Amino acid sequence: MSAFWEDFVWLAAAVGSNPLLIQGPGGNVSLKDGDDMWVKASGRRLCEALDRNIFARLSRRAVLEALDRGEEVFCVDGGGARPSVETPLHALIPQRIVLHLHMLDAVIRSGLPEGGLAALLDGLSWRLLPYARPGLPLSSLVRKSLEEGGQADVHILENHGVVVAAEDGERAIFLVNELIRRLWLAQRPFALPDATSLRARNDAGWGIPVQAYPHALAFGEGAAALLAGGPLWPDQNVFLGRKICVLGPKERLRAALEAFEQDCGFMPVFAVVPEGGVLFSPKIGASAAATVSALGQAALRLPGGCAPRPLSEAALDELDNWDGEKSRKTLDGA
Ligand SMILES: [Zn+2]
Repeated sequence: MSAFWEDFVWLAAAVGSNPLLIQGPGGNVSLKDGDDMWVKASGRRLCEALDRNIFARLSRRAVLEALDRGEEVFCVDGGGARPSVETPLHALIPQRIVLHLHMLDAVIRSGLPEGGLAALLDGLSWRLLPYARPGLPLSSLVRKSLEEGGQADVHILENHGVVVAAEDGERAIFLVNELIRRLWLAQRPFALPDATSLRARNDAGWGIPVQAYPHALAFGEGAAALLAGGPLWPDQNVFLGRKICVLGPKERLRAALEAFEQDCGFMPVFAVVPEGGVLFSPKIGASAAATVSALGQAALRLPGGCAPRPLSEAALDELDNWDGEKSRKTLDGA
C-alpha cells in the first residue's frame, strides 16, 4: 500500500499544481482500499498534497449508505477534516483512483456548440454528463451513468470539468495526459497591462496583480465574450460572483464599484479596465485570485473568441442557495 499511496500523493500534487487542471482549492481526488476511502478534504489544496495530509478517511460503505438516504453532509473524520462535497461521486465510482479536475479546456469545450468532443475523445472509454449542481445532484447523474452504461474511464462534466477513474496511478496519469493532449486549446499571446491607465482609474487603493493572466481579461475578443456572459463553471460563481465589474470608458474605480454594488448586490473582488488591465481588491482571497487567473487563461484559449454557454440563472440560484459552498467561500475571505 505505501508505494501505491506515494504514487497517489504525487499524482494529487502534480495535477493540483497545474492551473489548467486545478485552480485554488478546486477539484478533488480519492483512493480506495477495500472499504477504506481517502478523499481530499474540503478547502484543502491538491498542490499541498506532498507537504501535509490533505485527505479525510472514510468508510466507502458508510458514504454509499448516506447517499441512499439522500444525505449531503458528511461528518468530520477522526482528524477533524471535512471531506469534499464530491465524496459520494468518488464512492460510487468503482475504480481505486478517482480524479475530479476543473480542467479548463474541458470546461470551455463542453460549453461550445462546436466543441467536437466525440471526435476528439474517439477511442477512449468516456461519457458526457449534462451540468448538475456539485454534490448530490452530480452524484445522481454519475450513478445513473454507471447503472446504464457500466464503468467508464472518463466523464466529461458540462460547465464543470472531468472525472478520471483508474485502477492505478500509472493509468490515471496516462488518461490525464490523453485528455490534456486531445482537448488542448491553443493559447493566444497575452498583452502586458497598461499600468499608467490602471493607476489613473484606480481611486480606491486597489492593487495591480503582478501575474500576467488576470490582465488577459482586459484585451481581445475572447475577454469580451467572457465579460458579457455569466460564470462558466461553479467555482467562478462561488469565488467571483455571477457578474464581473467592468469600468466604462474613462470611468474611475470608485464610481464603478458603487454602481456595480447597487446593480448586482455585492462588492466585487476584482474589476476590469478594458484595454488597461485588471485591478484587485485588497480583500481578494487566494482562491478568487486563482479563479481570475483561470478566467484570463480561458479568454486567451477561446477558439475564435466565441463564447461558451455559461451556467443558467437557475443553476446559479441553486449554487447560491446551497450550504455546501458557503464554507469554502468564507475560508477564502471573499
Ligand atoms: Zn468540481
